[in-house]
Amino acid sequence: MVITQISVFRVELPFARGSYQLSGGRTWQSLDSTVIRIDTDAGLVGWGETCPFGPNYLDAFARGARAGIAELAPGLIGRDPSRPAVIYAQLDDHLLGHPYVKHAIDMACWDLLGKLARQPLYTLFGGMLSEFPPTSGWIPPTHGPRLDELLARHRAEGCRQFSTRASGDPEADIEFLLRLGEIMLPGETVRFDANRGWRVDEALRVLRVTGSVEAYFEEPCASYEEIRALRRSVDRPVVLDECALDLDTLLRAHADGICDGVNLKIGRVGGLTPALAMRDLCSALGIPFYLQCTGGSGITQAAIVHLAHASAPERLLSIWDIGDLVALDTVANPVPRKDGRMHAHHLPGLGVEPLAEVLGEPVAVYS
Ligand code: MG
Repeated sequence: MVITQISVFRVELPFARGSYQLSGGRTWQSLDSTVIRIDTDAGLVGWGETCPFGPNYLDAFARGARAGIAELAPGLIGRDPSRPAVIYAQLDDHLLGHPYVKHAIDMACWDLLGKLARQPLYTLFGGMLSEFPPTSGWIPPTHGPRLDELLARHRAEGCRQFSTRASGDPEADIEFLLRLGEIMLPGETVRFDANRGWRVDEALRVLRVTGSVEAYFEEPCASYEEIRALRRSVDRPVVLDECALDLDTLLRAHADGICDGVNLKIGRVGGLTPALAMRDLCSALGIPFYLQCTGGSGITQAAIVHLAHASAPERLLSIWDIGDLVALDTVANPVPRKDGRMHAHHLPGLGVEPLAEVLGEPVAVYS
């Protein structure tokens, strides 16, 4: 089987709740997602997606994804996509860095390998370990009775883990988290994501003052060194996200004793192939992890769920439900969610069928 054509689509994904704001006033109205379709001489078609969130979130941006694919795609024509590790080595040989670009191509190659082998991806990733991985219930920062309603709705869906984000204003964040702590029940936890929004002194104050709340603090400060300084000063659990780019960071964070968990986003680390290695390292080192992506639609969701299925339940904390984030899906058969959990379709590859009417005409075709 060899690649005969690569088509690139651009899809605007509106947020489910209007705009989306991160710490530091970073606000976006929608996500710019790039979907790729790889055609082969065997008649099989593979799908991939990359959606690096807003351009001031990571060293990644949507138009950069499409420019990177334009750089890489011509060299992939005639290559065998059923060997993702070989393809990945070729991508690295041709283009240094830019993991979010390689992520889409890598995903489509895995999809094709699954279709060729007639196996769902979780089987190729090592087999079913977590049959019904839990989702975390997303709580937008809000106050008043609305907060109680949101928690009640997530509980009714079976969620016991919640995630929310900090504003970056330490006083407002303390007030919000303490309020949340008042209405959380025993056994429930919340992941409070600062997206690098606090200085070390601000983060210290938030973590200390909210000591009564069962919370994990995700990427609290702007750099690895600041997070290390924080974690060494306060005995509260910290989750690494934006700074956890590769195996080296994980090893270093583990050795430094500052990694209580990692948010393993497949797009940030460069796709399923590198994420598999990070999953294995987390499992070996005993680091609990969340599985998410920087953004995307039902194609990305399927990739996350397959990797979650093949992850040890004692290490996997929760997965992301992209339906909580965006209001438009690119697939006809999104991974179903039931009782706060997800289970991938028992179909070859990713097991999802993209909708031509949502993708529209390709913005680029390479053959
Ligand atoms: Mg995060």
